[in-house]
Amino acid sequence: MDNPTRCSVIIIGAGISGITAAKVLAENGVEDVVILEAADRIGGRIRKEEFGGVTVELGAGWIAGVGGEQSNPVWELARQSNLRTCFSDYSNARYNIYDQNSGKIFPSRVAAESYKKAVASAIQKLQNHDDSPLDETNGPKTPIELAIDFILHDFEMAEVEPISTYVDFGEREYLVADERGYEYLLYKMGESFLFTSDTEGKILDSRLKLNKVVRELQHSRNGVSVKTEDGCVYEANYVILSVSIGVLQSHLISFSPPLPRWKTEAISNCDIMVYTKVFLKFPYKFWPCGPEKEFFIYAHHRRGYYTFWQHMENAYPGSNILVVTLTNGESKRIEAQSDEETMKEAMEVLRSMFGCHIPNAMDILVPRWWNNRFQRGSYSNYPICDNHQLIDDIKAPVGRVFFTGEHTSEKFNGYVHGGYLSGIDTAKALLEEIIKEKEWKSENQSFLIEPLLALTGSLTLKQPEAVSNNLHKFTIPWTTLSS
Ligand SMILES: Cc1cc2nc3c(=O)[nH]c(=O)nc-3n(C[C@H](O)[C@H](O)[C@H](O)COP(=O)(O)OP(=O)(O)OC[C@H]3O[C@@H](n4cnc5c(N)ncnc54)[C@H](O)[C@@H]3O)c2cc1C
Repeated sequence: MDNPTRCSVIIIGAGISGITAAKVLAENGVEDVVILEAADRIGGRIRKEEFGGVTVELGAGWIAGVGGEQSNPVWELARQSNLRTCFSDYSNARYNIYDQNSGKIFPSRVAAESYKKAVASAIQKLQNHDDSPLDETNGPKTPIELAIDFILHDFEMAEVEPISTYVDFGEREYLVADERGYEYLLYKMGESFLFTSDTEGKILDSRLKLNKVVRELQHSRNGVSVKTEDGCVYEANYVILSVSIGVLQSHLISFSPPLPRWKTEAISNCDIMVYTKVFLKFPYKFWPCGPEKEFFIYAHHRRGYYTFWQHMENAYPGSNILVVTLTNGESKRIEAQSDEETMKEAMEVLRSMFGCHIPNAMDILVPRWWNNRFQRGSYSNYPICDNHQLIDDIKAPVGRVFFTGEHTSEKFNGYVHGGYLSGIDTAKALLEEIIKEKEWKSENQSFLIEPLLALTGSLTLKQPEAVSNNLHKFTIPWTTLSS
């Protein structure tokens, strides 16, 4: 095997956090980085695909937290790139709840009462810092209560606790509906520091290495060494690890020496949410499409069973596409079965809402975030209690290994802007460390060399360059930092 080349920083993962960290490092003069990405594309959980004649977002779809006093940085990036977005008005979803038995929409009075009850019990749970499922007596029982409970707890639009995203950046959410995809923001960012083809916007820079699945990470006080599945070895002074909390829990990457216990415990204590958008293409639309009809809910006796629906007519008029969102257990269940079975179940649900005459779906798209070994879930979900220690431990570096990603963002975990801001924070923390190490080196170099130079009769030492030039042959217990 060739001698591994050494660089300043290896970044593992080219999602929003990894690309942002690389950009901040480059802007601060650390340009000899290598970005190792397991997939054949950048973006991670921001991922578009062509389906039914339009571009759909399999991962992040919304820019959440817009319209407040502070501007969401991802919204700013979207504006600079003229990304096409649509305002999502969820407020009426609760009045479009279909009864499983009659196929009719519940009267608004019934919906409002059930909603009030579900919010009250959710608030009580939060006040008691109670993370356990609601029991038989106080929990939701009827299909409509179960549907509302699902919306409150499993679907991000209606969490009842004060969420920093909405408090800081505003309560509006915009769906990305752009043929270039949400991922276009990452390509735009990449353009500023990676060599990119003018015509296609393709990243051609050799510092970005795709299809490189990191399996081993060795770290010591001298540096890091990273081995990929195809047997390549990369060495650096530092590594930034941006893989998801699900990947950290999965042991895809082995650490030598192993990560300390406080770190592994923190990693295993963080929950992972699985969130799946299933796309269905129809020959024509049969669902109501007027104002306030974009979102609708199916009330079923099984919690989370094809509960939350959205039509894509606002985003892509004439696309005839419906999206249904499943989470956690239901996501894992449908990931394990064939797409045909999922289509059959979804059609039964649609027929109980809209009647037997509706056409069969022509196509289905079922993303599998849980079974994707480079994701192992959709996003982090911290326990409800205020556990600052947990998140501090998850983001704290271990020697030369720095951690980034949405799961390391205390205020915005789970969101694209959480990933973006964590990339900035981690890169800044690493830059500080690099400066500290340089200072340490130069102080210790003069400490070591002064007696030596005194011996050889050379008495003045002023320029740090003179020191390092004279010193290169002495062993220093720290690796050399490229400047
Ligand atoms: C279905 C879904 C819906 C979502 N909806 C929204 C939404 O509407 N709004 C919102 O703000 N957020 C949403 N999110 C969350 C958002 O997508 C994430 O918070 C954000 O994209 C995470 O970015 P990241 O850089 O932290 O991680 P990632 O994007 O996961 O980047 C990590 C990268 O590491 C790579 N990797 C993993 N293992 C290895 C390895 N061994 N070697 C090398 N590379 C490796 C992965 O391939 C990946 O590219 C959603 C996510 C999902 C899945």
